[in-house]
Amino acid sequence: MNREKIKDIMQSQGILPQVRFGQNFLCDDKIITSIVDLCEVSGNDRVLEIGPGLGSLTYPLSELTGNLTCVEIDHGLAEYLSANISNAKIIDSDFTKIGDIGDFDVVVSNIPYYVMTDIMKKLFSDFSNARKMVFMVEYEAVARIDCGPETKQYGPLSILCSLYGSYRYEFKVPHTAFVPQPRTTSAVISFSREDTADILCPEFVKFLNTCFSMRRKMLKKNLAAAASSEVIDAAFKTVGIKDNARAEELEPEEFSRLYSEINNK
Ligand code: SAM
Repeated sequence: MNREKIKDIMQSQGILPQVRFGQNFLCDDKIITSIVDLCEVSGNDRVLEIGPGLGSLTYPLSELTGNLTCVEIDHGLAEYLSANISNAKIIDSDFTKIGDIGDFDVVVSNIPYYVMTDIMKKLFSDFSNARKMVFMVEYEAVARIDCGPETKQYGPLSILCSLYGSYRYEFKVPHTAFVPQPRTTSAVISFSREDTADILCPEFVKFLNTCFSMRRKMLKKNLAAAASSEVIDAAFKTVGIKDNARAEELEPEEFSRLYSEINNK
């Protein structure tokens, strides 16, 4: 999908990019091929794409599997894709509000940046069985994803990313690779699932949000409403967390163990 093709589709279909939905369409064939290759789709893998837009990634993915599902918030784009891609299921919906749509082996998204955190949190809670996830994100957001304890950016999102599995920064994408061009540079990143992802579920995400609800407070204070003080004291002792620890001091695995202890899992 190159610049001319994207412009052609927009003109012939009367489509104007919606800023409120973060619509910047990828128009560089080399980058598109690299992203699709990173997905390592094989056989009849069940693939989920969030925000297919005009189909830059969707068309090549639909040639690799007959099990491609795409979720698109923009009715006009969802309608256009349904009419033009025969080999994919297009769900016309806001992904952050979607219910059960099944399980997937591979997840890919050129993520609309305005809603990146919500989309990734939902993926790592509801779709964490996938073996591979490949994302395009705003370059500046990489620091929020790939960071450890005691840093300003450390929080629920980076902990979920770390527990899901191994992370790789793949490559930078210049703003010239899109129509219309965003102001910022982008980056492609990927994750491969590991067993530490077994803990990931909506309740665990809620637990993390509670742990970080007041960053500067002691973790025990934040958790006060989540369980009795006896249960919390015992769990801190078993995991080896000091009484006055703040959430930002704990390693991702310590959150995993603390959650299991508190919830008897
Ligand atoms: N995948 C296409 C590409 O690479 O050219 C489009 C990427 S564009 C950055 C983001 C896409 O996500 C747009 O098509 C936008 O309408 C869609 N989108 C935005 N918010 C969404 C949401 N909450 N749920 C589903 N799709 C969403």
